[in-house]
Amino acid sequence: MRILPLLAASAIAASAFPAMAQDLTAKASAVAEKALKDPTGWDVIESLTTEVGARPVGSPAMERARDWGVAKLKALGFENVHLEPFTTGAWSRGAESAEVVGPWPQKLAILGLGGSSPTPAGGLTAPIVVFPTYRAMLALPPGALTGKIAVVTEKMTRTQDGSGYGGINANRTLGPTEAAKRGAVAYLVRSLSTDDTRLPHTGAANPAGIPAAALSTVDAELLEHMAARGKPVTVKLDMTSSFNPAAQAWNVVGEIRGREAPDEVIVVGGHLDSWDPGTGAIDDGAGVAIMTAAAKLAGGERPRRTIRVVMFGSEEQGGSGTAYANAHKVETGKIVVAGESDDGADLIWSLNLPKGAAAHPAMTAFLTAIGPLKVIVGRGLPSQGGADISGLMLLGVPFVDFHQDSNRYFDLHHSADDTLDKIDPAHLAQNVAVWASFIYTVANSDIDFRKLAAGGQ
Ligand code: ZN
Ligand code: ZN
Repeated sequence: MRILPLLAASAIAASAFPAMAQDLTAKASAVAEKALKDPTGWDVIESLTTEVGARPVGSPAMERARDWGVAKLKALGFENVHLEPFTTGAWSRGAESAEVVGPWPQKLAILGLGGSSPTPAGGLTAPIVVFPTYRAMLALPPGALTGKIAVVTEKMTRTQDGSGYGGINANRTLGPTEAAKRGAVAYLVRSLSTDDTRLPHTGAANPAGIPAAALSTVDAELLEHMAARGKPVTVKLDMTSSFNPAAQAWNVVGEIRGREAPDEVIVVGGHLDSWDPGTGAIDDGAGVAIMTAAAKLAGGERPRRTIRVVMFGSEEQGGSGTAYANAHKVETGKIVVAGESDDGADLIWSLNLPKGAAAHPAMTAFLTAIGPLKVIVGRGLPSQGGADISGLMLLGVPFVDFHQDSNRYFDLHHSADDTLDKIDPAHLAQNVAVWASFIYTVANSDIDFRKLAAGGQ
């Protein structure tokens, strides 16, 4: 037996990691390359939109989506496939119509907001008051809108980072409550949308005890033109809906178990529920497809750590993120990192990694692997995460932000145009490639994001 001199032994020890890091880089690059050609992501979203379609929480379609999720994960070879049940409030749309009854009678295209009250049977007719901005309505004192339908027609700005949506979100979510406080009998908001079609975009709003609906962008402009003529304009709304305060819902979970550290878990997911007018393709069938495909590709050779995919069961009306965090409280210290995809299927154009992580060999391997995919590595820290991982984020679980191009997203989001044909398979595959190589490098290294954030290695 040959005894190595001490110096040589330590040199080998020091060089062992660079060799491992090179291997990780080569394998992560191979995963990214394979993902660009792999059909799994497209097959998943094609299957979900074709075989299930729209799937609001609390609906029979959501039960079919649940069964679809279990069957799909099993068919793709995931292990420990199971349901994690919870209950949540579920609003369901009934028949809806809106029209100007005078002085220039015309039909209007609306969609009730989740959380809206129904109108009295036979409908509700009242004069409108049009506000070009939400702020203009807020400037009015309580009682100023008594007996009126408040209409906010503020436009949403198109942005690559989606910030136009955040900037105007309160118009929809809080608008009904603020209108009711001022005495309004109903509330109409210009769709939070960047399109110019006659399709309204729905979404959740805080229940305010009054009917509340989104107008198509062009109908919001039509009401502006009418109001500008100075004569009182009267609108009739006829809306029905129901609300179940304790609807059954499920997070659908599958894993690829780790070979060395199975209790260390990478959690990735998207939401399985959707709004009702489209088929829930970009919101968020795409996220489900991206993460399912990425986890499968990353876990092709059994990983060191466990990779877990969660199809969250109630993002649009809330509940699944909190339910997941509550059910996994004792495990959160073992969740290495969490990631969520819920911004459509267009290209990932920038990303933010947790504090101190970018220089770690696992992340340099990841960033090298996605070099050809044209993603900017931001200097800031992740700040958004996602609604369904926000419960984990509050419990201190490290998370990443991978930003998708949002320029087109709000043309489609929550409208009847959220359908499969809007997804570009090549763009979907780029998302899968970025996530797959990230998951691969985390699952096959010992990177500890908490330690790195605290200044360790
Ligand atoms: Zn979503
Ligand atoms: Zn949504």
